[in-house]
Amino acid sequence: MTSIHATPSSAALIEIEEQWGAHNYKPLDLVITRGDGAWVMDVEGRSYLDCLSAYSAVNQGHCHPRLLATLTEQASRVTLTSRAFRNDQLPHFCEELASLCGMEMVLPMNTGAEAVETAIKAARRWGYTHKGIPADMANIIVFDGNFHGRTTTIVGFSSESSYRDGFGPFAPGFTRVPFGDLAAVRAAMNAHTCAVLFEPIQCEAGVIMPPDGFLRELAALCKEENVLMIADEIQTGLGRTGRLFACDHEGVKPDMYVLGKALSGGFYPVSAVVSRNDVLSVFGPGTHGSTFGGNPLGCAVARTALAVMQEEQLVERSAELGAWMLSQLQTLSHPDIVAVRGRGLILAIELSVPARPYCEALMQRGMLCKETHDTVIRLAPPLVVRQEDLAWAVEQLRAVFGREQHVSSAA
Ligand SMILES: *Cc1c(COP(=O)(O)O)cnc(C)c1O
Repeated sequence: MTSIHATPSSAALIEIEEQWGAHNYKPLDLVITRGDGAWVMDVEGRSYLDCLSAYSAVNQGHCHPRLLATLTEQASRVTLTSRAFRNDQLPHFCEELASLCGMEMVLPMNTGAEAVETAIKAARRWGYTHKGIPADMANIIVFDGNFHGRTTTIVGFSSESSYRDGFGPFAPGFTRVPFGDLAAVRAAMNAHTCAVLFEPIQCEAGVIMPPDGFLRELAALCKEENVLMIADEIQTGLGRTGRLFACDHEGVKPDMYVLGKALSGGFYPVSAVVSRNDVLSVFGPGTHGSTFGGNPLGCAVARTALAVMQEEQLVERSAELGAWMLSQLQTLSHPDIVAVRGRGLILAIELSVPARPYCEALMQRGMLCKETHDTVIRLAPPLVVRQEDLAWAVEQLRAVFGREQHVSSAA
Protein backbone atom coordinates (compact mmCIF):
# COMPACT_ATOMS: atom_id res chain seq x y z
CA MET A 1 0.00 0.00 0.00
CA THR A 2 1.34 3.42 -0.96
CA SER A 3 1.74 6.02 1.77
CA ILE A 4 -0.07 9.25 0.95
CA HIS A 5 3.24 11.00 1.66
CA ALA A 6 5.23 9.07 -0.91
CA THR A 7 5.56 10.79 -4.28
CA PRO A 8 5.29 8.33 -7.16
CA SER A 9 5.85 9.61 -10.68
CA SER A 10 3.15 11.43 -12.63
CA ALA A 11 2.79 8.41 -14.88
CA ALA A 12 2.23 6.07 -11.91
CA LEU A 13 -0.33 8.42 -10.37
CA ILE A 14 -2.19 8.79 -13.64
CA GLU A 15 -2.37 5.04 -13.96
CA ILE A 16 -3.82 4.63 -10.46
CA GLU A 17 -6.37 7.38 -11.07
CA GLU A 18 -7.40 5.92 -14.40
CA GLN A 19 -7.96 2.54 -12.76
CA TRP A 20 -9.72 3.63 -9.59
CA GLY A 21 -11.34 6.97 -10.44
CA ALA A 22 -14.42 7.47 -12.59
CA HIS A 23 -13.56 8.96 -15.98
CA ASN A 24 -15.91 11.95 -15.96
CA TYR A 25 -13.07 14.34 -16.87
CA LYS A 26 -10.33 14.37 -19.48
CA PRO A 27 -7.60 16.33 -17.69
CA LEU A 28 -4.31 17.41 -19.17
CA ASP A 29 -1.80 14.81 -18.07
CA LEU A 30 0.15 16.65 -15.46
CA VAL A 31 -0.07 15.88 -11.76
CA ILE A 32 0.08 18.94 -9.55
CA THR A 33 1.51 18.67 -6.08
CA ARG A 34 2.01 22.31 -5.02
CA GLY A 35 0.66 25.75 -5.80
CA ASP A 36 1.82 29.27 -4.97
CA GLY A 37 0.11 32.38 -6.32
CA ALA A 38 -0.36 31.97 -10.07
CA TRP A 39 2.08 29.05 -10.31
CA VAL A 40 1.78 25.32 -9.69
CA MET A 41 4.36 22.54 -9.62
CA ASP A 42 4.03 18.93 -10.75
CA VAL A 43 5.39 15.91 -8.90
CA GLU A 44 8.54 15.96 -11.05
CA GLY A 45 9.22 19.53 -9.95
CA ARG A 46 8.28 21.30 -13.19
CA SER A 47 6.60 24.72 -12.79
CA TYR A 48 3.58 25.89 -14.71
CA LEU A 49 1.69 29.17 -14.92
CA ASP A 50 -1.94 28.38 -14.10
CA CYS A 51 -4.12 30.10 -16.69
CA LEU A 52 -7.33 28.43 -15.59
CA SER A 53 -7.47 29.10 -11.82
CA ALA A 54 -9.74 26.10 -11.24
CA TYR A 55 -12.41 27.79 -13.38
CA SER A 56 -11.91 31.06 -11.44
CA ALA A 57 -12.15 29.50 -7.98
CA VAL A 58 -8.53 30.42 -7.25
CA ASN A 59 -8.80 34.13 -8.12
CA GLN A 60 -6.84 34.96 -4.94
CA GLY A 61 -3.99 32.69 -6.06
CA HIS A 62 -2.98 29.23 -4.88
CA CYS A 63 -2.44 28.77 -1.16
CA HIS A 64 -2.89 32.43 -0.31
CA PRO A 65 -1.11 32.84 3.05
CA ARG A 66 -3.96 34.75 4.67
CA LEU A 67 -6.49 32.14 3.59
CA LEU A 68 -4.20 29.40 4.83
CA ALA A 69 -3.92 31.13 8.21
CA THR A 70 -7.69 31.54 8.47
CA LEU A 71 -8.31 27.95 7.44
CA THR A 72 -5.92 26.47 9.98
CA GLU A 73 -6.92 28.85 12.75
CA GLN A 74 -10.64 28.21 12.27
CA ALA A 75 -10.10 24.48 11.77
CA SER A 76 -8.44 24.32 15.17
CA ARG A 77 -11.47 25.95 16.78
CA VAL A 78 -14.65 24.55 15.25
CA THR A 79 -15.44 23.43 11.71
CA LEU A 80 -19.05 22.28 11.56
CA THR A 81 -22.02 22.90 13.79
CA SER A 82 -24.85 22.28 11.29
CA ARG A 83 -27.59 24.86 11.23
CA ALA A 84 -29.28 23.12 14.14
CA PHE A 85 -27.10 25.43 16.23
CA ARG A 86 -25.66 28.85 15.47
CA ASN A 87 -21.98 29.59 14.94
CA ASP A 88 -20.00 32.79 15.37
CA GLN A 89 -18.81 33.08 11.73
CA LEU A 90 -22.07 32.85 9.79
CA PRO A 91 -23.48 36.21 10.99
CA HIS A 92 -20.37 38.11 9.86
CA PHE A 93 -20.21 36.23 6.58
CA CYS A 94 -23.84 37.10 5.77
CA GLU A 95 -23.46 40.74 6.74
CA GLU A 96 -20.18 41.23 4.89
CA LEU A 97 -21.29 39.47 1.71
CA ALA A 98 -24.70 41.15 1.57
CA SER A 99 -23.09 44.58 2.12
CA LEU A 100 -20.50 43.95 -0.58
CA CYS A 101 -23.27 43.01 -3.02
CA GLY A 102 -25.55 45.88 -1.99
CA MET A 103 -28.16 43.33 -1.00
CA GLU A 104 -30.09 42.45 2.15
CA MET A 105 -29.85 38.71 2.70
CA VAL A 106 -27.60 35.72 2.12
CA LEU A 107 -28.37 32.02 1.91
CA PRO A 108 -25.16 29.97 2.16
CA MET A 109 -24.61 26.67 0.37
CA ASN A 110 -21.48 24.76 -0.69
CA THR A 111 -21.14 24.10 -4.40
CA GLY A 112 -22.20 26.35 -7.24
CA ALA A 113 -24.84 23.94 -8.47
CA GLU A 114 -26.48 23.93 -5.03
CA ALA A 115 -26.63 27.71 -5.05
CA VAL A 116 -28.25 27.65 -8.50
CA GLU A 117 -30.78 25.09 -7.21
CA THR A 118 -31.44 27.39 -4.26
CA ALA A 119 -32.06 30.33 -6.58
CA ILE A 120 -34.46 28.22 -8.65
CA LYS A 121 -36.41 27.22 -5.54
CA ALA A 122 -36.51 30.81 -4.28
CA ALA A 123 -37.70 32.10 -7.65
CA ARG A 124 -40.46 29.52 -7.96
CA ARG A 125 -41.74 30.09 -4.44
CA TRP A 126 -41.56 33.85 -4.97
CA GLY A 127 -43.62 33.33 -8.14
CA TYR A 128 -46.34 31.55 -6.18
CA THR A 129 -46.39 33.80 -3.12
CA HIS A 130 -45.67 37.21 -4.68
CA LYS A 131 -46.90 36.92 -8.24
CA GLY A 132 -49.87 34.59 -7.86
CA ILE A 133 -48.63 31.98 -10.33
CA PRO A 134 -50.90 28.90 -10.07
CA ALA A 135 -49.38 25.96 -8.14
CA ASP A 136 -46.64 24.05 -9.97
CA MET A 137 -46.89 26.27 -13.07
CA ALA A 138 -43.87 28.54 -12.50
CA ASN A 139 -41.52 28.87 -15.45
CA ILE A 140 -37.92 30.06 -15.66
CA ILE A 141 -36.32 31.34 -18.86
CA VAL A 142 -32.76 30.15 -19.55
CA PHE A 143 -30.36 30.47 -22.49
CA ASP A 144 -28.83 28.27 -25.14
CA GLY A 145 -25.23 27.52 -24.24
CA ASN A 146 -25.87 27.91 -20.50
CA PHE A 147 -23.75 26.26 -17.85
CA HIS A 148 -25.18 26.31 -14.33
CA GLY A 149 -23.85 23.04 -12.89
CA ARG A 150 -24.44 19.32 -13.01
CA THR A 151 -27.52 18.39 -10.97
CA THR A 152 -30.32 16.63 -12.80
CA THR A 153 -32.59 19.69 -12.73
CA ILE A 154 -29.83 21.92 -14.10
CA VAL A 155 -28.55 19.63 -16.85
CA GLY A 156 -32.17 19.14 -17.85
CA PHE A 157 -32.27 22.67 -19.28
CA SER A 158 -28.82 22.56 -20.83
CA SER A 159 -28.44 22.74 -24.61
CA GLU A 160 -25.34 20.51 -24.47
CA SER A 161 -26.01 16.89 -25.35
CA SER A 162 -22.91 15.68 -23.46
CA TYR A 163 -24.33 17.22 -20.26
CA ARG A 164 -27.82 15.74 -20.77
CA ASP A 165 -27.82 12.55 -22.76
CA GLY A 166 -28.82 9.52 -20.75
CA PHE A 167 -29.67 11.47 -17.59
CA GLY A 168 -33.37 12.10 -18.10
CA PRO A 169 -36.20 12.34 -17.28
CA PHE A 170 -35.78 16.01 -16.55
CA ALA A 171 -37.72 18.55 -14.50
CA PRO A 172 -40.19 20.70 -16.41
CA GLY A 173 -40.55 24.44 -15.89
CA PHE A 174 -37.76 25.86 -18.03
CA THR A 175 -37.89 27.57 -21.43
CA ARG A 176 -34.67 28.02 -23.36
CA VAL A 177 -34.05 30.86 -25.79
CA PRO A 178 -31.00 32.06 -27.79
CA PHE A 179 -28.42 33.89 -25.68
CA GLY A 180 -28.46 37.64 -26.13
CA ASP A 181 -31.81 37.66 -27.96
CA LEU A 182 -34.12 40.05 -26.10
CA ALA A 183 -37.01 39.57 -28.51
CA ALA A 184 -36.88 35.84 -27.84
CA VAL A 185 -36.94 36.45 -24.08
CA ARG A 186 -39.92 38.75 -24.46
CA ALA A 187 -41.75 36.21 -26.62
CA ALA A 188 -41.08 33.44 -24.08
CA MET A 189 -42.46 35.44 -21.13
CA ASN A 190 -45.97 34.90 -19.89
CA ALA A 191 -47.95 35.16 -16.67
CA HIS A 192 -46.25 32.02 -15.36
CA THR A 193 -42.70 33.33 -15.78
CA CYS A 194 -41.07 33.84 -12.38
CA ALA A 195 -37.44 34.37 -13.40
CA VAL A 196 -34.75 34.64 -16.05
CA LEU A 197 -31.58 32.75 -15.14
CA PHE A 198 -28.47 33.88 -17.02
CA GLU A 199 -24.70 34.13 -17.05
CA PRO A 200 -23.61 37.69 -17.92
CA ILE A 201 -20.77 36.08 -19.89
CA GLN A 202 -21.11 32.42 -20.85
CA CYS A 203 -17.66 31.22 -19.82
CA GLU A 204 -18.06 27.47 -20.33
CA ALA A 205 -19.71 28.03 -23.70
CA GLY A 206 -16.48 29.70 -24.84
CA VAL A 207 -16.43 33.15 -23.17
CA ILE A 208 -19.50 34.28 -25.10
CA MET A 209 -20.53 37.87 -24.44
CA PRO A 210 -24.06 39.04 -25.17
CA PRO A 211 -24.54 42.10 -27.42
CA ASP A 212 -23.86 45.43 -25.70
CA GLY A 213 -26.97 46.65 -23.96
CA PHE A 214 -28.54 43.21 -23.65
CA LEU A 215 -28.23 42.97 -19.87
CA ARG A 216 -29.60 46.49 -19.44
CA GLU A 217 -32.57 45.74 -21.68
CA LEU A 218 -33.13 42.41 -19.96
CA ALA A 219 -33.20 44.16 -16.59
CA ALA A 220 -35.77 46.66 -17.86
CA LEU A 221 -37.91 43.87 -19.33
CA CYS A 222 -37.78 41.83 -16.10
CA LYS A 223 -38.82 44.87 -14.10
CA GLU A 224 -41.68 45.67 -16.46
CA GLU A 225 -42.95 42.06 -16.39
CA ASN A 226 -42.37 41.50 -12.66
CA VAL A 227 -39.90 38.70 -13.32
CA LEU A 228 -36.81 38.02 -11.18
CA MET A 229 -33.43 38.46 -12.79
CA ILE A 230 -31.05 35.78 -11.50
CA ALA A 231 -27.41 36.42 -12.36
CA ASP A 232 -25.24 33.33 -12.14
CA GLU A 233 -21.96 35.11 -11.34
CA ILE A 234 -20.30 31.96 -10.01
CA GLN A 235 -17.49 32.27 -12.55
CA THR A 236 -17.75 35.92 -13.66
CA GLY A 237 -18.26 37.45 -10.21
CA LEU A 238 -15.86 38.74 -7.57
CA GLY A 239 -13.54 40.52 -9.95
CA ARG A 240 -12.94 38.09 -12.78
CA THR A 241 -14.19 40.46 -15.50
CA GLY A 242 -12.56 43.61 -14.11
CA ARG A 243 -15.62 44.73 -12.16
CA LEU A 244 -16.96 43.25 -8.93
CA PHE A 245 -19.74 41.64 -11.00
CA ALA A 246 -19.97 41.21 -14.75
CA CYS A 247 -23.44 42.82 -14.54
CA ASP A 248 -21.71 46.03 -13.38
CA HIS A 249 -20.36 46.58 -16.91
CA GLU A 250 -23.90 47.56 -17.88
CA GLY A 251 -24.87 49.12 -14.56
CA VAL A 252 -27.32 46.28 -13.94
CA LYS A 253 -28.28 45.07 -10.50
CA PRO A 254 -30.06 41.72 -10.69
CA ASP A 255 -32.59 40.51 -8.13
CA MET A 256 -30.34 37.63 -7.13
CA TYR A 257 -26.62 36.98 -7.38
CA VAL A 258 -25.55 33.35 -7.40
CA LEU A 259 -21.95 33.10 -6.19
CA GLY A 260 -19.41 30.35 -5.59
CA LYS A 261 -15.92 29.48 -6.77
CA ALA A 262 -13.75 32.50 -5.78
CA LEU A 263 -16.04 33.15 -2.81
CA SER A 264 -13.67 30.90 -0.87
CA GLY A 265 -10.48 31.46 -2.86
CA GLY A 266 -10.28 27.79 -3.74
CA PHE A 267 -9.78 26.59 -0.18
CA TYR A 268 -13.16 25.16 0.51
CA PRO A 269 -16.49 24.90 -1.30
CA VAL A 270 -18.62 27.91 -0.37
CA SER A 271 -21.50 29.22 -2.44
CA ALA A 272 -24.37 31.57 -1.76
CA VAL A 273 -27.47 33.22 -3.08
CA VAL A 274 -27.46 36.93 -2.29
CA SER A 275 -30.70 38.83 -2.70
CA ARG A 276 -33.36 41.02 -1.14
CA ASN A 277 -35.48 40.24 1.91
CA ASP A 278 -38.66 39.84 -0.11
CA VAL A 279 -37.03 37.12 -2.23
CA LEU A 280 -35.10 35.10 0.33
CA SER A 281 -37.85 35.45 2.93
CA VAL A 282 -39.80 32.87 0.94
CA PHE A 283 -37.75 30.33 2.86
CA GLY A 284 -38.98 29.58 6.35
CA PRO A 285 -37.63 26.99 8.78
CA GLY A 286 -37.59 23.54 7.23
CA THR A 287 -38.09 24.67 3.63
CA HIS A 288 -34.46 24.44 2.51
CA GLY A 289 -31.11 23.52 3.96
CA SER A 290 -27.70 21.92 3.79
CA THR A 291 -25.68 20.16 6.47
CA PHE A 292 -22.48 21.95 5.52
CA GLY A 293 -24.01 25.20 4.24
CA GLY A 294 -23.00 28.13 6.46
CA ASN A 295 -20.46 26.10 8.40
CA PRO A 296 -17.95 28.14 10.41
CA LEU A 297 -14.89 26.90 8.51
CA GLY A 298 -16.36 27.85 5.14
CA CYS A 299 -17.68 31.18 6.44
CA ALA A 300 -14.33 32.13 7.99
CA VAL A 301 -12.47 31.24 4.80
CA ALA A 302 -14.96 33.14 2.63
CA ARG A 303 -14.70 36.25 4.83
CA THR A 304 -10.94 36.27 4.33
CA ALA A 305 -11.30 35.52 0.61
CA LEU A 306 -13.49 38.63 0.25
CA ALA A 307 -11.11 40.70 2.37
CA VAL A 308 -8.15 39.63 0.23
CA MET A 309 -10.07 40.49 -2.94
CA GLN A 310 -10.73 43.99 -1.64
CA GLU A 311 -7.46 44.75 0.14
CA GLU A 312 -5.29 43.47 -2.71
CA GLN A 313 -7.49 45.33 -5.21
CA LEU A 314 -7.97 42.24 -7.31
CA VAL A 315 -10.90 43.74 -9.20
CA GLU A 316 -8.76 46.65 -10.38
CA ARG A 317 -5.85 44.33 -11.20
CA SER A 318 -8.17 42.20 -13.29
CA ALA A 319 -9.33 45.23 -15.27
CA GLU A 320 -5.81 46.57 -15.89
CA LEU A 321 -4.01 43.32 -16.55
CA GLY A 322 -6.92 41.99 -18.60
CA ALA A 323 -6.96 45.02 -20.89
CA TRP A 324 -3.22 44.69 -21.40
CA MET A 325 -3.43 40.97 -22.04
CA LEU A 326 -6.25 41.40 -24.56
CA SER A 327 -4.19 43.97 -26.45
CA GLN A 328 -1.35 41.44 -26.59
CA LEU A 329 -3.62 38.65 -27.78
CA GLN A 330 -4.87 40.92 -30.54
CA THR A 331 -1.34 40.98 -31.96
CA LEU A 332 -1.30 37.19 -32.41
CA SER A 333 -1.69 36.28 -36.01
CA HIS A 334 -2.13 32.72 -37.15
CA PRO A 335 -4.41 31.06 -39.69
CA ASP A 336 -6.02 28.88 -36.98
CA ILE A 337 -7.06 31.92 -34.87
CA VAL A 338 -10.60 33.05 -35.62
CA ALA A 339 -11.05 35.60 -32.85
CA VAL A 340 -9.75 36.81 -29.51
CA ARG A 341 -12.05 38.36 -26.91
CA GLY A 342 -12.52 38.86 -23.22
CA ARG A 343 -13.26 41.19 -20.37
CA GLY A 344 -10.89 41.63 -17.46
CA LEU A 345 -8.97 38.41 -16.91
CA ILE A 346 -11.42 36.08 -18.64
CA LEU A 347 -10.04 35.86 -22.14
CA ALA A 348 -10.50 33.54 -25.06
CA ILE A 349 -8.69 32.59 -28.22
CA GLU A 350 -11.17 31.02 -30.60
CA LEU A 351 -9.71 28.68 -33.19
CA SER A 352 -10.98 27.09 -36.38
CA VAL A 353 -9.46 23.77 -35.25
CA PRO A 354 -9.55 21.75 -31.99
CA ALA A 355 -7.84 23.63 -29.16
CA ARG A 356 -6.61 20.57 -27.29
CA PRO A 357 -3.31 20.15 -29.22
CA TYR A 358 -2.53 23.82 -28.56
CA CYS A 359 -3.29 23.39 -24.84
CA GLU A 360 -0.94 20.41 -24.79
CA ALA A 361 1.77 22.36 -26.61
CA LEU A 362 1.36 25.21 -24.12
CA MET A 363 1.59 22.74 -21.24
CA GLN A 364 4.89 21.48 -22.65
CA ARG A 365 6.11 25.08 -22.39
CA GLY A 366 4.87 25.46 -18.79
CA MET A 367 1.56 27.22 -19.37
CA LEU A 368 -1.71 25.61 -18.29
CA CYS A 369 -4.98 26.30 -20.00
CA LYS A 370 -7.87 24.10 -20.91
CA GLU A 371 -9.91 24.02 -24.04
CA THR A 372 -13.59 24.79 -23.71
CA HIS A 373 -16.09 23.80 -26.35
CA ASP A 374 -13.37 22.09 -28.36
CA THR A 375 -12.13 25.11 -30.27
CA VAL A 376 -11.69 27.80 -27.61
CA ILE A 377 -8.65 28.36 -25.39
CA ARG A 378 -9.82 30.09 -22.23
CA LEU A 379 -7.26 32.19 -20.37
CA ALA A 380 -8.20 32.97 -16.79
CA PRO A 381 -5.14 33.21 -14.53
CA PRO A 382 -5.46 33.99 -10.82
CA LEU A 383 -6.09 37.71 -10.36
CA VAL A 384 -2.87 37.98 -8.33
CA VAL A 385 -0.86 37.10 -11.45
CA ARG A 386 2.07 39.46 -12.08
CA GLN A 387 2.35 41.39 -15.31
CA GLU A 388 5.72 39.75 -16.02
CA ASP A 389 4.03 36.34 -15.74
CA LEU A 390 1.47 37.42 -18.32
CA ALA A 391 4.22 38.77 -20.56
CA TRP A 392 5.87 35.36 -20.29
CA ALA A 393 2.54 33.72 -21.16
CA VAL A 394 2.30 35.90 -24.27
CA GLU A 395 5.77 34.68 -25.30
CA GLN A 396 4.62 31.08 -24.97
CA LEU A 397 1.52 31.84 -27.05
CA ARG A 398 3.71 33.51 -29.69
CA ALA A 399 5.95 30.46 -29.77
CA VAL A 400 3.04 28.04 -30.12
CA PHE A 401 1.23 30.19 -32.68
CA GLY A 402 4.44 30.91 -34.58
CA ARG A 403 3.97 29.86 -38.20
CA GLU A 404 7.07 27.68 -38.11
CA GLN A 405 5.82 25.64 -35.15
CA HIS A 406 2.35 25.04 -36.50
CA VAL A 407 0.58 22.51 -34.28
CA SER A 408 -1.18 19.85 -36.22
CA SER A 409 -4.83 19.61 -35.29
CA ALA A 410 -4.57 15.91 -36.05
CA ALA A 411 -2.23 15.41 -33.07
C1 LIG B 1 -18.76 26.34 -12.08
C2 LIG B 1 -20.08 26.93 -12.37
C3 LIG B 1 -21.25 26.43 -11.78
C4 LIG B 1 -21.26 25.18 -10.92
O1 LIG B 1 -20.45 25.27 -9.80
P1 LIG B 1 -20.00 23.91 -9.05
O2 LIG B 1 -19.30 24.40 -7.82
O3 LIG B 1 -19.10 23.18 -9.99
O4 LIG B 1 -21.25 23.15 -8.76
C5 LIG B 1 -22.44 27.08 -12.05
N1 LIG B 1 -22.48 28.16 -12.85
C6 LIG B 1 -21.38 28.68 -13.43
C7 LIG B 1 -21.49 29.89 -14.29
C8 LIG B 1 -20.14 28.07 -13.23
O5 LIG B 1 -19.06 28.56 -13.82
